[in-house]
Amino acid sequence: MRVKVLGSGAGGGFPQWNCGCSNCNGLRAAKLHGSSRTQTQIAFSVNSKAWFLLNASPDLRAQILATPELAPPEGSRQSPITGVFLPSADVDSIMGLLHLREFTPFRIFATPAVQQILREENTIFRVLDRATPPVQWLGISMRPQFARVDSDPREDSSFRCSAVPLGGSYPDYVSDTLRGSLPADQAVVGLLVEQGEKRLFFAPSLPGQNQEWKKLAESSDLVFLDGTFWSDDELSRAAGSGKTARAIGHLPLSGADGLLQQFSGTGRGRRVLIHINNTNPILDEESTEYHQVREMGWEIAHDGMEFAL
Ligand SMILES: [Zn+2]
Repeated sequence: MRVKVLGSGAGGGFPQWNCGCSNCNGLRAAKLHGSSRTQTQIAFSVNSKAWFLLNASPDLRAQILATPELAPPEGSRQSPITGVFLPSADVDSIMGLLHLREFTPFRIFATPAVQQILREENTIFRVLDRATPPVQWLGISMRPQFARVDSDPREDSSFRCSAVPLGGSYPDYVSDTLRGSLPADQAVVGLLVEQGEKRLFFAPSLPGQNQEWKKLAESSDLVFLDGTFWSDDELSRAAGSGKTARAIGHLPLSGADGLLQQFSGTGRGRRVLIHINNTNPILDEESTEYHQVREMGWEIAHDGMEFAL
């Protein structure tokens, strides 16, 4: 399995257009030792021909153009992008679908609740139905069940995909009426992709409200986990006001019961922090926080990172 990180930042990317925090301004002034990041996006392929996306980032068009593997074959109107898996209905996870609207059929995998939000309440996504045949909306199987997904019906290139509920809530933009009718366990899921013995786990938003994800992360060869915030009060310290990390569905990295303490590296695979917010001190490669996570064995995702499983 090949895995490519097309984007590694949280919502807004790094630097963020309206943010003058020390990281964003440090990067603008070329004084910070670190690199810019587009919004979180992963692509993977089990046969190096058909590619699947984890997330649909607001930066997706530019990310596709920057990735030679995702270019259409010469003379065709087809894309190697075959399917998209959505971990939630957050704007950062779905906006990219609108970049994929140019009449090409593909598959979208999402929980029934996320599908309902996008297809019934947010009718702009009906633009995807104009493809011939229209895009196919499919459910995500919850563990221990899984779905077998074919990359190419003409060859043996399938993989298994399943999801685990992570707790967390539906985005602010969902109406109160719809929100009240949706099951809580379909709001935010972690995604597990398995091919043979190889496992990839993706949870860019980890609200930390249950422990079910840990076993999957520990048994995976490559895990991408929520690296959004270093501390719980990071946003309010950077912006003067704002909610805590936990209140907006992100376990902070540091502190008692933070992600670094909860998941300390007993697993078998590589551990990568992704969805890194522009306020997070780990973006500065000269910071003590950067060195701390590296010394604990974590990798910090950057755009263009590649893995082979
Ligand atoms: Zn900033």
